[in-house]
This record gives sequence, C-alpha cells and structure tokens, in this order.
Amino acid sequence: KRGTNLDYLQGLNTSQRAAVEQIKGPVMIVAGAGSGKTRVITYRVAHLINNGVDPFNILVLTFTNKAAKEMRERITKVVGGEAKNIWMGTFHSVFAKILRVEGHHLGYPSNFTIYDTDDSKSLIRTILKEMQLDDKLYNANFVYNRISSAKNNLISAAEYQKNEHIQAEDRSSGRPHLGTIYQTYSQRCFKAGAMDFDDLLFNTNVLMKNHPDVLYKYQNKFKYLMLDEYQDTNFSQYIIVKKLAAIHENLCVVGDDAQSIYGFRGANIQNILNFEKDYPDLNIFKLEQNYRSTQNIVNLANSIIAKNEHQLKKDVFSTNEVGDKIKIFRAFSDNEEGKIVAENIAQKRSLSGSPYQSFAILYRTNAQSRAMEEALRKIGIPYKIYGGTSFYQRKEIKDLIAYFRLTFNPNDEEALKRVINYPRRGIGNTSIERIMISANEHNISLWDVISNAENYLDSRTAVTVAPFSLLIKSFQAAAATNTAFDSAMHIAQHSGLLKDLYEDKSIEGLSRYENIQELLNGIKEFSDREDIEEKGLDVFMQDIALLTNEDNDKDPNADTVSLMTIHASKGLEFPFVHIVGLEENLFPSQRSLNSRDDLEEERRLFYVALTRAEKNIYISYATSRYQWGNLNNCEPSRFIDELDPQYLDLDFRPKSNSSDSSSFENERSSWQPLDTFSKPKPQTSRPKTTSILPKAHVPSSGFTPSDTKNLQVGMEVEHERFGYGKVVNMEGKSPDLKATIFFKELGQKQLLLKFAKLRII
Ligand code: ATP
Ligand code: MG
Repeated sequence: KRGTNLDYLQGLNTSQRAAVEQIKGPVMIVAGAGSGKTRVITYRVAHLINNGVDPFNILVLTFTNKAAKEMRERITKVVGGEAKNIWMGTFHSVFAKILRVEGHHLGYPSNFTIYDTDDSKSLIRTILKEMQLDDKLYNANFVYNRISSAKNNLISAAEYQKNEHIQAEDRSSGRPHLGTIYQTYSQRCFKAGAMDFDDLLFNTNVLMKNHPDVLYKYQNKFKYLMLDEYQDTNFSQYIIVKKLAAIHENLCVVGDDAQSIYGFRGANIQNILNFEKDYPDLNIFKLEQNYRSTQNIVNLANSIIAKNEHQLKKDVFSTNEVGDKIKIFRAFSDNEEGKIVAENIAQKRSLSGSPYQSFAILYRTNAQSRAMEEALRKIGIPYKIYGGTSFYQRKEIKDLIAYFRLTFNPNDEEALKRVINYPRRGIGNTSIERIMISANEHNISLWDVISNAENYLDSRTAVTVAPFSLLIKSFQAAAATNTAFDSAMHIAQHSGLLKDLYEDKSIEGLSRYENIQELLNGIKEFSDREDIEEKGLDVFMQDIALLTNEDNDKDPNADTVSLMTIHASKGLEFPFVHIVGLEENLFPSQRSLNSRDDLEEERRLFYVALTRAEKNIYISYATSRYQWGNLNNCEPSRFIDELDPQYLDLDFRPKSNSSDSSSFENERSSWQPLDTFSKPKPQTSRPKTTSILPKAHVPSSGFTPSDTKNLQVGMEVEHERFGYGKVVNMEGKSPDLKATIFFKELGQKQLLLKFAKLRII
C-alpha cells in the first residue's frame, strides 16, 4: 500500500464503502441525486492509488473539466502529488488529447484544428451555397444536428448514403441531399485538417476499430476506468468505454436515469440496461441516502419524478433536518421576477449570514438570465454566469485565434475565410470565390491554392493574395522559434488586428481591445508557467475550442451568486436555489409538448433543478414575459400543479427590505401569496409595477389596453414600463393589431396592442 491515510473511508456509508472497495471488475451504481455517486468515484480513485494502482493507469471521465479539476484536488488531499498523473476530464478533452498523438493513423496532423459549432455551421452554409440549396429547407442548424446525430450513432457519411431507411426519411422530409452534404462536409473538414466536436468521438471510434494495435495500447494504459453521469453518455461514448474496458473490465459507472437530460426516447436508460447485459458478472450497488438536501426537498423531488412512467425504481431518503417548505411565488413580469429574486437573495443573505456563493438562480433557457442580471446589478449583488457565451467565442478573440490557427494549420478553411480580408487588405468576395472554386476543382485546400497562387489563380487574383500568403508564412517562421507569448504578440501586431481594434474608440471597440489584452495576458501567464515544458503557442492553442468560461475563471473563489441553465447545473449543489420561469411553453418548453418522452425529459430536468438545493428552494413564475420583443401572457407551468402541496409553503411573501427599498423606487412588489395552485385567479385590481420613470411622472390614471383603440402613427405614448415613445408603424387587424413604437430609453419595440399597457399622451 502506498498511502496510510485511510481516514477517507470513514466518510462513507456501508454501501458507498462497499462500492469504493470493490476494486476489480465491472461496477455500476445507479442512484438518486445527492446520494454520493460522485463522492464514491472520487474516493474510489484515491483508494485504487492507495492499493498500489499506478495513477497513470486510471482514466476518469466527468461531465465538465471543472468537475475533473475539483475531483483531482480532493484526491490530491488523500494521495498527494501523484494525483496529477491520473487522466481526467470530459470525453472530448481526453480523446482530443489521444487523437493529437494517434490521429496520424487516420491521416490527421497532430496540430489538427477543432472546429467549434460556429465553424461547423459556417462550413455547412458555404456548402449549401455551393450546392445552391434552399437554406430555409436546409437550415444550417438542422443540417448540423442531423450530421451530429449520425456521427454520435457511428454512422459515417458513406453509410448514411447507403442506408435505405435514412434515405427514405430524408426524401419524405423533402431534403434528399442531406447525405451528399454530410459527405462533402466530412471531406472538407478532413482537407482542412479539422475535426468538429463529434469527430473527436467518432474518429476515436474509427481509430479503435481500424487500428487494433492502438486500441490495445490504450486498453493496457487505462486499466481502470471510471465514468460519472453515465446516464447522459451517447452511443459513440458508450462504445469507446466498452472497447477500452474490454480486456481488464475494471469499469465503474455511476449515474441516475432520473437525471438523464440530454437524450431522446429513453435511449439513455437503454445504456444502463445494456450495461447489465454487457457484463453478466456486474457488481451493482444501491445508494439510497441523500446527504445533500433536507427531507422536504428530497420528498418533493421524489414526488415529481414519480410522475414519469419511464424510470428505474429507487427509494431516496434523507436523514437531514426536515427543513423549510418549498416556497413559491408569482410575479407580474419577468423583470419583476428578477427584482423579487434579487431582493430575496439580499435579504436571505443578511438574515442567514451565508455568502453569495450559497445562492444559485437556475433557468430553462439562457435568455432568461437578462432580467435576473439586471435586477442583481441594480442592487449591487455580484454574480457569475456559468456556461454562457465563452470568452473564446467573442468575435475579436476568435479573429485573433483564427490567425493562430492558420499559423499552425494553414489548411484550416474556416480560420482562413475569417481573416483573409480582416483587417481589410483588398481581397474581396470575388477573389475569395475564385480561390474556393479553384480549391474545389483541384480538390485541394484553400491554402494550397493561395500558397501556389501562380499555378491555380489568374494573375490578378494571384497578385492580390500574395501578401497574405507571405504574412502567414512569416507567422509560421516566428512561431517556430518563439515562446507562446512572443509569437502571439507578433501575430496580433503584424496581422494589423491590434491596430484595427485600437483605432476603434467606441465603447465596444474599447472593450474588444481589452479582451484581446486579456487573451494576451493569459498567454503570457502560460509562457511563464514553470510546471510545463512545452510552452509554444501551438500547445496553448490545443484545447482552446473545448474551453468554457469556467475553465478560464480568473477568480474561482470570488463570492458571487451563480446563474446558469438547469442543464449546466448537473452535479452541482447550493444551499439556496431559485428556480425561475416555471411557465407553460417555457418550462416545459414548447418543443417538448408534442410527445410524452420529451415531456418526461423536461420533468427530469425539473428533478435535476430541485435536487441541486441543500436547504431552500424558491420557485417562481411570471404572468407576463417578453419574448422576441413581444409581451406575452404566461400560464403557470403544469409542473407547479404537480408539486405535492404538503411540502409547499403557500403563504410565502418575500418581504420588502425597507433599508434597501430605495433601489426599487419605493414601490411595493406586486408578488402575491398563492392560495391555490390551479391557474392564477383573475386579478381584480391591476398590480402595480416598477416603472423606469421617476415616481412623480407615473400618471395616476391606469394604463389600459382600451386607451389604444385610437392609436395612430406619429402619436406619442407612454408605456407602463418602457416609458415615453412614439408610434412609428401599425400593422395587423384588430384584435391582433400591432404597433411599432420607438421608446426614448429603449429603442424600437413591436407590441401587440391587446396586451400592451399604453397610454396616449
Ligand atoms: P448528483 O446526482 O447530483 O450528481 P451525487 O450522487 O453525485 O449527486 P454527491 O455530489 O457525490 O452526490 O454527494 C452529494 C453531497 O453529499 C456532497 O456534498 C457530498 O459530499 C455529500 N455526501 C455524500 N456521501 C456522504 C457521506 N457518506 N457522508 C457525508 N456526506 C456525504
Ligand atoms: Mg454527481
């Protein structure tokens, strides 16, 4: 035994400990939320190492890279520095790393580019244009999803085109060319030396299938495999794991079918059932005690998930305190919902003495964060958004990175298209089209054309592109000898990008310039690191497409409220959780209402949200919400009706914090306690709402839709929340008359008059 510190075994209950100590053979734990599945994996890794297993022989696959990082930190506490040698991360990051080494077997360079979703869709749009297909019928998102799902089911482009069932399906949907698009897309990616996200798994499968020697090498490297969140692995991932584990069969998977939120039609429950078939001598462990949440929360979550037909039976209980009941409130609008949530957090924080870190706001769609952010900002609550647009997705960052990408992989078509004429250097669309036509004609990359322009282009175009090709070659020369930072700085300056951003003195321009500086700072830090040997810009670049904001968090310990979608909250826990926007067509989402399976997936999502909370849950919904620029009336979600009232606090009224009230213009909130969970009662008096106008300007007469019968273009109006504006256009017929109004403070909005709270002035 390497270590002597076995104290960690004390922190496990009997079944958890049994699972940790079952070192050999296939192990499966299917258990409810908060029952310690992730904890078992963590301790099991520590236990393996303590029992002489070499950390180099362990592979752990997690849901996010951040989860892997935290796990590694915990393991380090038990086994020490050796923990850094464990392979740990998401499927994508782990197999990208392997493909860098082994990709040459498939004809890929080790510095292959990883296309992110934007790159993939841009390439699809280019192909659609070349094929002259209707981009409404062949919408890029649709095509992307179709190709993605084929790859995740291990169907290659060639197989796709041969499969009669798929062909018939495409023909009947009126999109017979999908197979050809898939084929062209794959060829173009290959030619560009690029893999998209799905290729990282697809190509790993191809590698393992066609190169048994390579497979054998990794089977013997990863003698012990562990996999968290097993319920959300797709077919492609499932096959990778199965193959890797085939010789030693030391495979431990943990998951919860009730938390499967990325699948369709029960495919993931199938994974769990398959597992039992694949490994007849499987050791199954049951964990039933939830350590995370109060009894009320566990019981409420159980009562919700019981409504699903498709689920494996589980008994989850908690011996924690009974705890407070779950609180529900409704707000008049999305903005007001944000206001109440923010106020509640401020108040709860001062009453309980808990830091901001203890609070999370969970929502169904990213768009809902706006109202929350505004309200939090207004009263000065610090927050962090998880899983939002990554820093690396910003335009200016992607532009500079495109130059880096080209430097190391000049065949990268998407990077080339992005910067060939940015900053402007006189290479117009006609020239670009000529390059593309020539590349397609000779079946070579755009770079092959450009770097041999005299052979492939007419002399005028050749002269136009020559400086660009020289520029990229000079970057390659600079990057070959310099550190990451010096290369990056050289490229930022000589590409003209830094100057272009510097000269833009608008506020946005300034912030773009700062972002570039931030990126360069990050690269400097990387160059200065002492714990790694290879410090070239190419190394820095390798996984950049897979990074999220969280991986790049400069200040992970900052005391902030966490905002995120429920999808992103998987595996996490917070003492206080707000779940907002419980409205029909939002949660459950509109798209899920067509089938029972989709609705069940939404319900599992709700179960995930509820089970993130340790102490308190606040559920809220608004009776009106802005979506796509229109104010819509909303109905409370059916999930609210499904909540068992015995666990609910029906009299909850978030209190107005008088010392803080100035920030809310001294207005009382319009939230109301709920006395019933059927639909909201018709309101007898119109609730007061927050106005963006100074109080003195709020007219005493109400704003009523009937005021607007005589509305005409040119009239000045006042909106209850948007303030003063002028009607610029009217369209539609009563009762669906719409007005486009230019508001002084907010700009142009289109409103449906039957709902708009307007007054003619
Ligand atoms: P999820 O399904 O949400 O991913 P999980 O099953 O992975 O949940 P963990 O996150 O591992 O559960 O554990 C939930 C919480 O309970 C954690 O804070 C963990 O430290 C704690 N916990 C788990 N087991 C024990 C135990 N035996 N004693 C004390 N605390 C425990
Ligand atoms: Mg977990």
